[in-house]
Amino acid sequence: AGPLPTDYEIAQATEMEPIWELVEPWGLGLDDLQYFGSYTAKVKHDAIDRLREQAEERPRNLVLVTGMTPTPKGEGKTVTTVGLGQTLNHIGEEAMIAIREPSLGPVFGVKGGAAGGGRSQVLPMEEINLHFTGDLHALTSAHNLIAAMLDAKIAQGNDLDIDVNDVSWPRAIDMNDRVLRETVVGLGGKTGGTPRENQFLLTAASELMAVLCMASGLADLKERVARIIVAYDGEGDPVTVNDIEATGAVTMLLRDAIKPNVVQTIEGTPAFVHGGPFANIAHGTNSLMADKAAFGMADYLVTEAGFGSDLGAEKFLNIVCRLGEMEPNAVVLVSSVRALKYHGENMWPADYDDIDAAGTGAVERGLENLDKHVENLQKFGVPVVVAVNRFPDDADEEVQVVLDHCRDDLDVPAAESTVFEEGSEGGVDLAERVVEAVESGEAEYAPLYEDEDSIKEKIHTVATEVYGADGVKYTGGADRDIERMEDLGFGDFPVCLSKTFHSLSDDASKKGAPTGWELEIREVYPSAGAGFLVALTGDVLTLPGLPSDPAAAGMDIDADGNISGLF
Ligand code: ADP
Ligand code: MG
Repeated sequence: AGPLPTDYEIAQATEMEPIWELVEPWGLGLDDLQYFGSYTAKVKHDAIDRLREQAEERPRNLVLVTGMTPTPKGEGKTVTTVGLGQTLNHIGEEAMIAIREPSLGPVFGVKGGAAGGGRSQVLPMEEINLHFTGDLHALTSAHNLIAAMLDAKIAQGNDLDIDVNDVSWPRAIDMNDRVLRETVVGLGGKTGGTPRENQFLLTAASELMAVLCMASGLADLKERVARIIVAYDGEGDPVTVNDIEATGAVTMLLRDAIKPNVVQTIEGTPAFVHGGPFANIAHGTNSLMADKAAFGMADYLVTEAGFGSDLGAEKFLNIVCRLGEMEPNAVVLVSSVRALKYHGENMWPADYDDIDAAGTGAVERGLENLDKHVENLQKFGVPVVVAVNRFPDDADEEVQVVLDHCRDDLDVPAAESTVFEEGSEGGVDLAERVVEAVESGEAEYAPLYEDEDSIKEKIHTVATEVYGADGVKYTGGADRDIERMEDLGFGDFPVCLSKTFHSLSDDASKKGAPTGWELEIREVYPSAGAGFLVALTGDVLTLPGLPSDPAAAGMDIDADGNISGLF
C-alpha cells in the first residue's frame, strides 16, 4: 500500500448527492432549504419550527461526544462524532449529527480543519473549512458593527455618558493574529476618535457567537442581541446594544447565519454544521437550533463538545442542557494512545516523535487523565462509553491497555474505533455499546450546581469537582466583578469558565490529573445575551497566535483549483 490518501483526496474521490435529494427522506422538502450550491443548504425557519414539533413525537436520544485532555493536534472527537453518526445509521438506527463550524484560526494554525477526517468527514470539506456559508464572516461583521457604533457614540458627543475606561466590547477577527490581542484605538487626532485601550478576540469567542448558538429563532436572537452589555456609564450602569441603537442592524446581519447549515457525511447521511464557539474560551458546542431540528429528523442526535470533560462537556452539561432543556442519554469519551502517552511522559510542549516511541508504560502512566474525565462525566449521572480512536501507528498492545483498563478497572464499556480508516465498518463495536448505554435507561442527568448557588459557589463547584483544584483564588478585579454581577441581577446565571485545554488544571504544562493547586480567576463578565457569566482564568487567550510552523505555510492551490495541505 502507498501512503494513505489525504482527507482532501478522500473527500474529492467521494461522489456527493445533491443536498435536497439527500435530506428528502429525513423530512425536508425542496422549499425548506436555502441553497449554497448543490451540496450545502440552510434550513428555513418554518421548516425548523415543523421539525421542532415533530421532535415531540420522537425519542430524542442525545449522545454527547467529548474527549480526554488532548494533544495540540486533536484526538479525534469530530472524527468520532461523524463516524459514530454514520455507524448508527449503518446498524439500522436513524441518527443525525450536529457539529460546530470551523474557525480559520485553527485551520491555519496547528490543528487544521474541523470537518472530521479520513472516512469520517462532512462534505464538502474544503468549503466547510474555508468560507462555508459565511456565518463566521457575518458574525465578525455584526460584532464589529457594534464596536463601530459604540465608538461613534463616544466620539459624537457621548450622550450616553459611556465611561471610556469601562468599555466591555472588544473587536473581533476570525484569524489567529497575536498582535491584535492588546491594542490602542482612536489614534489619529480629532477625527480619529477617543484614544483608548482595546482588544481583539477571536470571532469564536464573541458573545454574538454564544448568542447565535443559544437563540431559538430570529425573534429570540433579536431580544438576546438587545440585552448584550457593551460598556458601563459614568454611574456604573450597563450600556446595552439596544442603548446604542444597534439591535436591528446587528440582527439583520445575522439573518442567514442563524439558520442551521445542513451538509452530508462521506457515507451520505445528513449533518448539521452550525455555530462555532471554542470550548476553552466560550461554551463549545454547536447551535441549539441545529440540535432541536435534528431531534425532528432522527431518533439519535450525536453532537460534539469541544476539548475535554472539563471544558466543552462541562459547559454542555451545566449550561447548554440547562438553558436548552435537553437531557443527554450517553457520553462518548474519546481517548487516543498518543494523548495517553503525552500525559504519561508529561511531554509539554509536545514532541510527536517522542510520543510515538514512548511505549505501553507511558500509556499506563497516562491513564489517570482518562480516569478523571470518566469520573467527571459520571458526576452528571450519564453513562460513559470510552472510545479509543485508533491512529495508524498505534500498536495492538497499546490499544489493549486502554480497553482492559476501562473494562476491568473502571467497569466502563470501551471500544476501539477505526472510523477514520474504515468509516462505519470501523465503528460498529462503539455504536453497539452506545446504543446499549442509551437503551439501558441508566441516565439520570443533573447539572452539578443549582441556579440559586452563589457565583462563587458555582465557580468553586466546577473548579473542585471537575478540574480537581483545592479551591479558587480571585485576583485582579474579579471580586469587584462578581459584586457587580450580583448587583445587576445576574447571580443565577450559570458560569462559563475559560481555561486552557492543555491540562485539567489552569497550567498548560501540568499533565495527568493535577492535584494540590488553586484555580485563579482574574475577571468575570456577563454574557447577558447568551444568558451566562464568563469567568477568565489566569492562563487563557481569547485571541490565539500562530505557531512557528503554521499549517498555512503548507497549503496551496494549483491552476485547476486543486487544494493541498488542508487537512
Ligand atoms: P478533535 O475534534 O478532537 O479536535 P479531530 O477529529 O478534528 O479532533 O481530529 C484531529 C486531527 O487528527 C484531524 O486532522 C483528523 O483528521 C486527524 N485524525 C483523527 N483521528 C485520526 C485517526 N484515527 N487516524 C489518523 N488521523 C486522525
Ligand atoms: Mg473537533
